[in-house]
Amino acid sequence: MPLPPPINPQQGPPTLPRVPLEQIDVQNLSKEKIRELYRSGKLPTSESIVEEVFQRATKIGSTDIHFEPIEGELRIRLGHEGILKRLVSLPADVTESVMSILKTRATLNQFEKKKPQEGRFSGTYQGESYDFRLSLIPVLSGERAEIRLLRKDKNIARLEELGFSRSALERIQGLLRSPKGLILFTGPGGSGKTTSVFAAVNAIETPEKCIITVEDPVEYRLPYASQVQLPSDRSFNFADALRAILRQNPNVILIGEIRDAETGVVAAEAALTGNLVLSTMLSTDAIGVIPRLANLGIQPFWLASTMAGVVYQQLIRKICPECKQEAKPKDEELAIIMPSLQPGGEHFFCEGKGCQTCGGTGYQGRTVISEVISISMQFRDLILQNASTIEMRTEATNCGFQSIRVDAAEKVAMGLTSVSEFVRVLG
Ligand SMILES: [Zn+2]
Repeated sequence: MPLPPPINPQQGPPTLPRVPLEQIDVQNLSKEKIRELYRSGKLPTSESIVEEVFQRATKIGSTDIHFEPIEGELRIRLGHEGILKRLVSLPADVTESVMSILKTRATLNQFEKKKPQEGRFSGTYQGESYDFRLSLIPVLSGERAEIRLLRKDKNIARLEELGFSRSALERIQGLLRSPKGLILFTGPGGSGKTTSVFAAVNAIETPEKCIITVEDPVEYRLPYASQVQLPSDRSFNFADALRAILRQNPNVILIGEIRDAETGVVAAEAALTGNLVLSTMLSTDAIGVIPRLANLGIQPFWLASTMAGVVYQQLIRKICPECKQEAKPKDEELAIIMPSLQPGGEHFFCEGKGCQTCGGTGYQGRTVISEVISISMQFRDLILQNASTIEMRTEATNCGFQSIRVDAAEKVAMGLTSVSEFVRVLG
């Protein structure tokens, strides 16, 4: 068997043999047998196990890797299109050395096991460069690690290609025409909001504009922009970078993510002084972003005068075209989805039967479902008055706001995704 190329020339060992993970899976062999292998030194080194996990994750295009110590084992799962799949369960004895390898790569404190830590490292797999974002949290039986895989030098998609409905796209394009203000792309983790915010910047780029970004880490290269990457030693943060950027008088500022009050306040300040500021933020719906920003400590009059709009999005799996067939949804599933559909319309419910192309899942690829608020004058008043989210929702609906459920239901009715996928993503 040919040896794989070294994965990380700076940090990794030169060559490591491939590890047959299935043969050391505690769910395939008795724990005693594995423990015996481990004690007699016949278990592959943790370094080569970790390498094998990275090889496999990058090969199938995983978006995240989870190392979870649970009940006498270290379970490793890979995230793919929003679904976690178990890769292997290792004997618990290797947990510490695996965590230690991950910490070494991300230059984190080896001896800190009681506090959450965050770090990142890079590497090359399958001929592609990756950034790995590592997060560690202490759990009952050790530490749990999650790694986000970010492929470098990804092509930036066009906004039109991401799957936004026509009405959502028109609203977003409308927002992007404003010369100043704060536009937020929000959603849960892994919802494609970063992809969207870059597509948005790409859509408004012209040679006359000064565009500066600040990211942690830089995920997409923009040939026309100046990109600031936060240093891994945290010697400066988003807010520090932003204050410096403001002195350089940009037209458009892209902030990777608003994670804390300080960044939120400086972002609002930047929008208030006449810049167009785009950023991403974690959220569970579009309207809820307003009270969350207020809770971060941004004054209502700042929010009211700077917010241009909020995009909330999630990703939903598309039915595999190779094995798509008509389907009759269960009554309880229909009851969930029908309130979001136009009455009397003709609906085609489909599902994927599962075939070789889609690995038996019935799905291939994902598309965006979204809801978009553009902040009207009346909406600004509501923000100023600290109005409830119910009042804000009513005002948004009066201005044609459509909830993400309507968008998703329309995609079900078009046969693009299934009722059960709707329920999995939106409940
Ligand atoms: Zn299929």
